[in-house]
This record gives sequence, structure tokens and C-alpha cells, in this order.
Amino acid sequence: MSKTKKIAIYGKGGIGKSTIVSNIAAAHSKDKKVLVIGCDPKADTTRTLVGERIPTILDTLKTKKNTVTEDILYIGYNNVDCVESGGPEPGVGCAGRGVIVAMSLLERLGIFSKDHDLIIYDVLGDVVCGGFAVPLRENFADEVYIVTSGEYMALYAANNISKGIKKLKGKLGGIICNCRGIDNELEIIYEFAEKINSNVIGIVPRNEIVQKSEIDAKTVLEKFPNSPQAEVYRKLANSIILNKKFVIPQPMDIEEFDIFFRKFQ
Ligand code: ADP
Ligand code: MG
Repeated sequence: MSKTKKIAIYGKGGIGKSTIVSNIAAAHSKDKKVLVIGCDPKADTTRTLVGERIPTILDTLKTKKNTVTEDILYIGYNNVDCVESGGPEPGVGCAGRGVIVAMSLLERLGIFSKDHDLIIYDVLGDVVCGGFAVPLRENFADEVYIVTSGEYMALYAANNISKGIKKLKGKLGGIICNCRGIDNELEIIYEFAEKINSNVIGIVPRNEIVQKSEIDAKTVLEKFPNSPQAEVYRKLANSIILNKKFVIPQPMDIEEFDIFFRKFQ
């Protein structure tokens, strides 16, 4: 049995997945060997860990036939291993195809057999197409966390992702609220989590230092290690490692979802 903990973070585009993934990775980097796998065509999960954008697997494969580990695996903050699947050009092909190609290359290069204590997948979840379901479907990830705010579209995506997790018999470890600061936000999130048979594992407040760190291509943990925001990410990272509560989610149907959301307006 492998001792590696393998988690996937899903959520709508722009909701704050990459920020959470990179800061969690940074939080564990001192005492764990961490691998971060960016599975979003935006390919910017690892930018704040490495300090710049790294070449994606899809792009590398296009130009180099015999791709080796050094072409696609980059070392980030405190020796975090970083890869980006990448995606096709906008308007061409399925956005999730990069993930399928990336996974088979990582397997072929033996990257999963390296000694990682923690592997984190950052997965776009607006559409639960074949490619984006791969980390779950093929058991690359054992646990899933969903990032959402209290906004309609973010929760709509979170509910849809839950449908995918249920179908694939995945284990949902909880909801992470990346706050937008809307009215009743925490109330909405707690009730949403309960409705889908899950719980809230972390609450990340909105804070401008996140963007200040991002401009410098750094995580909050690196740029503002003593800030309360850095502490929030450390606490979340810890809660995820210690988490023992996993469920098969019970997503709402669309009518139920609309009734749920309207209640708070
Ligand atoms: P995703 O990976 O889900 O597409 P990102 O992590 O790239 O989302 O975040 C989208 C934008 O929101 C980024 O510019 C990021 O700096 C900003 N952001 C994320 N979380 C926070 C937060 N807690 N406070 C302020 N800005 C945030
Ligand atoms: Mg992202």
C-alpha cells in the first residue's frame, strides 16, 4: 500500500483553486515531499511556487518526441515538485484532453513512483467532461475537496461536481469556502454543505495580499509568512491532512438547488 496522500481540488474557474492548492503545497513543503499537478488549461497552478510559468506537458510533447522528466517537472518553493498538464488552443479540441495525456506521461516517466508524501491535483470543474474526471475516475486521487464561494454560479458548479463525484463513487472530504464577501455567505455555504451530505473543512477570507503575492509570482506563505492569511492556509492544509470524514455526496437536482439558493436572497 502506498503511503502517499492523493487529493484533488475541484471548483469553478476563477474561484481560487490554484491559490489554495499552491498555498497548501507551500504549507506542507517543509516536512513533506509534495507534488502539485495543475490540470487546468490556464496552466497557472504552479506559477506562484516556481516563480514563473512552466512549460506544459501538452506543449512539450508537441515539440519534443522523447520527453524526459526534466522537461516537464519543475522544482518550486521548498522543493515542491510541479507539473502542468496544459490544454489545447482555445477553440480546438476538448479542454480536458491535456489531463488524459498528462496522466499517461507522468505514469510512463515513473513520476508517481517517486517518494511523494502528498500529491495535489488542481482541477477545473465547470464542465465535468471526460478529461477533468480522470484524476477521480482512474483513482489517481483518493479524496476530493470542492472550492466555492456563496455565489450562485460557484455553488451551481460545486453541485455539478458533486454529481460527478457521486457517479464515480469518489470520496468528498469537504467544502472549502473562498469568500467573496457576499451577504449571508457562511450561512449559505454551511447549508449547502449539509444539503449535499458534506461539511465545511475550511473558510478562506478575501484578502488583497493574495493578489499582491500573485503579482510577485509567490504564494502568500512565501511573501507574507507572518500574515493571518498565511495562517488560514496553514490551518486548512492541516485540516486536510488530518481529515477522516469522507462521504459520497448527495447533490441537489436543479429545482431543489434553485429553491435552496433563493431562500437567501
Ligand atoms: P482558479 O485557480 O480557481 O481559477 P485562482 O486561484 O487563480 O482561481 O484565483 C483567481 C483570482 O482570485 C486570482 O487573481 C487570485 O489572486 C484571486 N484570489 C483567490 N483567492 C483570493 C482571496 N482569498 N482573496 C483575494 N483574492 C483571491
Ligand atoms: Mg487555477
